[in-house]
Amino acid sequence: MSAIVGNLPFARNYSSEMLKLERGRGVTLRDADGKKYLDLGAGIAVNALGYGRRDLARIAARQMRKLIHVSNLYATSAGIELGTLLIELTRGRVGDFAAVQFGNSGAEANEAALKYARLYAHRTRGPGHHKILSMSNGFHGRTMGALSATPNRKYTEPFEPLIPGTEVCDFNDPDQLRARLSDEYAAVIVEVIQGEGGLRPMSSEFAAALNESCRKHDVMLIADEVQTGIGRTGKLFGCELVGLKPDIISFSKPLGGGLPLSATMIPAKINDLLHPGDHGTTFGGGPVTTAVSTRVVRTIADPDFLARVTARGSELAQRIDDIVARRPEAVERRGAGMLQGIAVAAEDPAARIAEILDACREAGVLLLRSASDVIRIAPPLIIGSRDLNRGLDILESAFRA
Ligand code: PLP
Repeated sequence: MSAIVGNLPFARNYSSEMLKLERGRGVTLRDADGKKYLDLGAGIAVNALGYGRRDLARIAARQMRKLIHVSNLYATSAGIELGTLLIELTRGRVGDFAAVQFGNSGAEANEAALKYARLYAHRTRGPGHHKILSMSNGFHGRTMGALSATPNRKYTEPFEPLIPGTEVCDFNDPDQLRARLSDEYAAVIVEVIQGEGGLRPMSSEFAAALNESCRKHDVMLIADEVQTGIGRTGKLFGCELVGLKPDIISFSKPLGGGLPLSATMIPAKINDLLHPGDHGTTFGGGPVTTAVSTRVVRTIADPDFLARVTARGSELAQRIDDIVARRPEAVERRGAGMLQGIAVAAEDPAARIAEILDACREAGVLLLRSASDVIRIAPPLIIGSRDLNRGLDILESAFRA
């Protein structure tokens, strides 16, 4: 028995039947009937510190009693503290960022990144330098700008025409990148591991070509770290894995500890060109989300915490390699750290993955898909070895022998 509910009041974007969840603690969720699940999806790579965190609840409650919202006409200590922390933590690791634009979601973070890149091109080179280059299988969100940089007809087709000037380069093809890039482009937007597009990691060679080509043409290199950022790969920032040096970087998913928050980091050369009112948001960077986020980010940035994520990521890689060796349907390991997956070979991989994930859910383990043919494993970063192995035993037994 599980608490599957239908007849839902939600737009039909979502499944007509869903598992109704009630509460969680650590890496375990409980449904409306009290059944327990081991969560290997973390609310789609959001709940890095797991469920039922008393420290986060206390910080949120205390801040809510003091101030819930003030608008961006005013500053708060919580917002200043988090902004300063993100600037300090990124410095030296990925780049030199002068300022943070807070927002509420991954798409909004990328929307800001694309707008700032276009503003930079416009104010330094004039009109006509507005093109945006995205990567095959990239995913950057559902708002019109982010969607226009998401070259997947499944997501874009009903909403076309997309914004003008968006083009696509083959991911991990440095020669194509070098041949295509020119100062007609305002931005190149990339993921270090393609979270929704099949968990393909960027090669170091491609990262070097991105660094070099974007500098050469003064094109803003945007790293979308919505899924890879803040510890998920074992590095605080996914860019560190391959030496990517972005001009702009966007964070969201785990940033607010489950509350909606995003951050777009921008360099001085963009910040210096901005005037009040160029961009804005009502809720982004409010005192409650930023107060919680500071605790989340400080916890994850601790070198011991990151070392544990890396160690657990190695265990996960080993277990996936074992599954690939033993189960013919499991054909390849993808990803890194605590964002890894298994490519599945079947006549209809999406349908087969749905069967596997249903079987795992019945057995008490929640997992995700990435693209149509990859099972994605993205647990809370706090998961212990025993729980991880228990979940992978169940996943392995859901594959055909
Ligand atoms: N960018 C990446 C890499 C993502 O994985 C996602 C969501 O999965 C987004 C952007 C969009 O984030 P949101 O759904 O919060 O708008």
